[in-house]
Amino acid sequence: CGIVGYVGGDDACQFLIDGLRRLEYRGYDSSGIAIQGDNDFAITRSVGRIDSLVGRIGDELPTGTMGIGHTRWATHGPATEPNAHPHQGGDGEVVLVHNGVIENFLDLKKELIEKGYVFKSDTDSEVVAHLVAEKLKTTAEIAGQPNMRYLNAVQASVARLRGTYGLAIAFRDRPNFIIAARFGSPLVIGVGKGEYFISSDASPLAGRTDRIVYLADHQIAVLTPEGFSVIHRDSGRVRVDIRPLEVDT
Ligand code: GLU
Repeated sequence: CGIVGYVGGDDACQFLIDGLRRLEYRGYDSSGIAIQGDNDFAITRSVGRIDSLVGRIGDELPTGTMGIGHTRWATHGPATEPNAHPHQGGDGEVVLVHNGVIENFLDLKKELIEKGYVFKSDTDSEVVAHLVAEKLKTTAEIAGQPNMRYLNAVQASVARLRGTYGLAIAFRDRPNFIIAARFGSPLVIGVGKGEYFISSDASPLAGRTDRIVYLADHQIAVLTPEGFSVIHRDSGRVRVDIRPLEVDT
């Protein structure tokens, strides 16, 4: 139902928690966050209110300058902790949050199970995580352009999806790096100085940046602390309009 993400110089966790609270008005049944640590992601998920997620996280917030978070409105699988996002793909090298519905998830799931992927949830979303892990395996590295392999794997993955998606995807082996993709589910990029945000609507961004970019359908964005770029799923780089964030007072 809601997505937040952060990449930059600050600890990500507080922004994610504050952002998820600002998305509460949209309704949800469970929530979760993933923060990138030195070697792996710290993932916390919980059924119920953001307060209960915050209780699970505890007083010591996980440190890390990249993180993604989610409020879930269950469509496939009940509101349980294993069904809460973020979901992991492969052996944990891919972590993602998803808004929307993947209509062909059963076909994709069957295919991925035959390839040996092990599913831990009933969601349609977990299929995307394993699909990206599978595409990463079969996508070649491009010399001097380390981000391209990840981008190409996501492009190949979303090309297989039927349905709607807002996605924020992170990779264990590529720190400080988020790929976002949208079709039919809103996503906004917040443009900061040395930090970038992704969110399903602009409300979590207020107070953190006043410059935003609305992603359009079939667009894929790459976010790092150094900057962001947007491509069309099937063609090349697109120019985007950075707009002022207007906050209701
Ligand atoms: N279809 C996904 C699920 O059931 C995402 C739902 C949402 O947009 O929150 O987990």
